[in-house]
Amino acid sequence: MVPHYLPHLSYRLKKQGGDIIQTHINLNTQLKTEKLVEDYIRSQRLKNIRNAAVVIIDNQTNRVITYVGSSGFMDTLDGGQVNGAAAIRQPGSTLKPLLYGLCFDEGLLTPKTVMTDVAVNYDGYAPENYDDKFNGYVTVEYALEHSLNIPAVKGLRLLGHEQLINKLSACHFKQIQKDRRKLGLSMILGGCGTTLEELTALFAAFAHNGQYRLPSYTKKDSLQSSFQLLSPAANYMINDILSRINRPAFPLNWTATERMPKIAWKTGTSYGRKDAWSIGYNNRFTVGVWAGNFSGQGAADLSGANTATPLLFKIFNTIDYDSDEAWFKQPADCDIRRVCSETGLLPADHCTNLVTDYFIPLISATRVCDNRQEVLVSTTEKISYCRSCVPAAGYKKKWFKVVEPEMQSWLDENRIAYIKIPPHNPGCEVIFKGAAPVIQSPVNGTEYLINKKDPEPLQLICKTANDVNKVYWYINNKFYKAVTRKKSSFCSY
Ligand SMILES: [Zn+2]
Ligand SMILES: [Zn+2]
Repeated sequence: MVPHYLPHLSYRLKKQGGDIIQTHINLNTQLKTEKLVEDYIRSQRLKNIRNAAVVIIDNQTNRVITYVGSSGFMDTLDGGQVNGAAAIRQPGSTLKPLLYGLCFDEGLLTPKTVMTDVAVNYDGYAPENYDDKFNGYVTVEYALEHSLNIPAVKGLRLLGHEQLINKLSACHFKQIQKDRRKLGLSMILGGCGTTLEELTALFAAFAHNGQYRLPSYTKKDSLQSSFQLLSPAANYMINDILSRINRPAFPLNWTATERMPKIAWKTGTSYGRKDAWSIGYNNRFTVGVWAGNFSGQGAADLSGANTATPLLFKIFNTIDYDSDEAWFKQPADCDIRRVCSETGLLPADHCTNLVTDYFIPLISATRVCDNRQEVLVSTTEKISYCRSCVPAAGYKKKWFKVVEPEMQSWLDENRIAYIKIPPHNPGCEVIFKGAAPVIQSPVNGTEYLINKKDPEPLQLICKTANDVNKVYWYINNKFYKAVTRKKSSFCSY
């Protein structure tokens, strides 16, 4: 009997034509990985997790050396003949590293940039975190390590989702390319379709100085074109964050052997706990792992960290055991600087706590920290003044931390005290007669009929003083959104 190796890859390549196809598969790695997948899935059956797929790329040659489409090709009960490596699935959080890398390259963020992880609402889109909690002020690196959703959505708003789609299309993400018009902010939380093959090829770029190369499956593959997806500097920052082992993505109960090679990795869990992802890399290999059910059924215990990562670690421990391969080196275009720990911006005179941050010279923003504001207050600090109403004597100057309204709500909800600017002088002529914002729409006291089946958005318009840049809208005392002045805002119900 002729041995049947590599059934999934054979079918996949056979479709491309030719009678004899020479792959780059390393039979030793392939068979070891097949065995690991089979044994691992046997241990997961009680949790109703019945399948897994693995793709391994050799980073030096960019060849696919192992390809496991399911936990057992002969397993007819759980659809073992389905090729899980080529199936279109939701990617969970696995696109976040690329997003932050692109933001680093656009000069929008650096690892120590502080973002606010609080409830937001973008035209009706109100994402939540995996654990339903919000964390307040967080750095970009913390947000990526902990895979927080709000900072990722904010990052995608800064970058623009078209930009992310363009980059993923250039990396041959076929379904994303096809769906480009339908995709929006939710794509960064997994609201799009990807395959394990595509994601593993993407992460291989992180292992190759940010250079994307289409992986080679057969000896006939002609030299594939490549392009610089991320600058080496931005790529290095991502590698640095993804290789920290005290992350929550470290699997429970994993008694790491001391010889586990150093790797960088990112997990993902799709909506409804249907797909568990963990994709890891070091200098030698990029390993992509997917686990879930071909039936599409979710499982209560399924997660990227606890379902896919243990298998990823087992594979690295087997194929790269006791490796002393050197880690990625800081490239010449990546430098370090001191920034304010409260904002991640260049320190101003008022900044007291400084930290070290990576940055890209001439690219990263050079904005100076502006989160303190000097306010004129009464000697008792009970009221504040503006230049027009400040008395000739009996006032002082005091610095206050600027807290954005969305952050104020979060601090109040979490009962975290902060020093508020005292209420403005009630006798002030300027603030109360001229400068207070006036809502023009909706009109006070007017009833609006809303057709539930086909709701017309309500227009939010207000008049403000000329020096107002931003207007914050509240609905029933709950922060709704911040709008740049002169842009009318629509509120849809
Ligand atoms: Zn500061
Ligand atoms: Zn005043």
